[in-house]
Amino acid sequence: MEKSKYYIQLEYRYGAHNYAPLPVVLTRGQGVYLWDIEGRRYYDFLSAYSAVNQGHCHPKIVQALTDQAQRLTLTSRAFYNDQLGPYLEFMSRLFGYDKLLPMNTGAEAVETAVKLCRRWAYDVKKIPKYEAKIIFACDNFHGRTLTAVSASTDPSSYEGFGPFLPGIVKIPYNDIPALEEALQDDHVAGFVVEPIQGEAGVVVPDEGYLSKAYELCKSHRVLFIADEIQTGIARTGKMLCCDYEEIRPDILILGKALSGGVYPVSAVLADDEIMLTIKPNEHGSTFGGNPLACRVAVAALEVVLEEKLAENAYRLGKLFRQRMDALRQKSTLIKAVRGKGLLNALVINDSPQSRTATEICLALMDNGLLAKPTHGNIIRMAPPLIITEEQLQECCDIIETTVLSYEKNRDEIQSASPSRTNVH
Ligand code: PLP
Repeated sequence: MEKSKYYIQLEYRYGAHNYAPLPVVLTRGQGVYLWDIEGRRYYDFLSAYSAVNQGHCHPKIVQALTDQAQRLTLTSRAFYNDQLGPYLEFMSRLFGYDKLLPMNTGAEAVETAVKLCRRWAYDVKKIPKYEAKIIFACDNFHGRTLTAVSASTDPSSYEGFGPFLPGIVKIPYNDIPALEEALQDDHVAGFVVEPIQGEAGVVVPDEGYLSKAYELCKSHRVLFIADEIQTGIARTGKMLCCDYEEIRPDILILGKALSGGVYPVSAVLADDEIMLTIKPNEHGSTFGGNPLACRVAVAALEVVLEEKLAENAYRLGKLFRQRMDALRQKSTLIKAVRGKGLLNALVINDSPQSRTATEICLALMDNGLLAKPTHGNIIRMAPPLIITEEQLQECCDIIETTVLSYEKNRDEIQSASPSRTNVH
């Protein structure tokens, strides 16, 4: 514990205070497991916000990383390299787009998609210069850049960071009439949407929402832009979450698990009509498309395909929700269980301001499972997709025991001092 305290204090003393981590100091990861510096083992139920879908330190991905790291890591795009072309071809074929624009982080890829959409608006759709608008859904999360926070409706994302980017229209998520109304404006160029809102608390829209939204965008000549940074790469039980409704976004944004969590790799995919509106020297990134990233991303996607991770996520996701629904019958602490594949959430039956979800996560940590609340009283449950049925059952046992004993303790304390409402 002393050792952990040391590292926690070091981060606090010398690092910006822009995160509030659980008090666990990790030193090693393998597959579905993480180990802290005291040697305790945990199941990872966050997967670095779905970046480690392939599991920690996957041997094939690490091999690709170390091989390439000894050959060539960065050339910049001032020159060609022998990894970028094969990667672009592999990705274009796999996802069915003419072209890909490589970036590094998710937020940069969203930024790129917004720039592409605006350029397409002026060059192709012929919206009067600098009057293009882009629709976003309320409660979205697209990262931390000024574009992303300008599009956000969450004060903890945008408060104090203005002035914000103009040309953004916000409509409620999962609301087709609102989209229909917003699309009446001829200056609208794009609609950016997460197929499931991960950070908002794994909010799953109604069946048919995405396909109806896609049709509406088509009929108004508006680009349908899917942010699959969190939902993509097999997390929700299909390679892309949009596959559930058989839609092919005009612009597809990927990140996180594109690299299996070993290196930041993001990508924007689109067809020529959109992609070729950006000409040489008009957009880029020193690290985007570097040979190390390309090699790692190909290996990471091969793992997803070879190990049938989408199929595993689909099957085990159902099992997880069944087990959690059974727990919901036994515990008043759980208000709802929702998700798709292995992107799920437990909605805790308490006010969003209370610390119940955080306290349950701390208790889960003590019992060997790492998860983190997202937005109020919601616990996201997202293990690596390589998890086996046996491991998943064990994790469900841990969650069940933890929730039930937390509830029992709370009830006991409450009955001992009934005047206190929020005892933890
Ligand atoms: N978009 C979505 C849907 C995300 O979930 C995230 C990260 O959580 C991002 C964008 C931002 O990605 P990054 O943190 O790599 O910038």
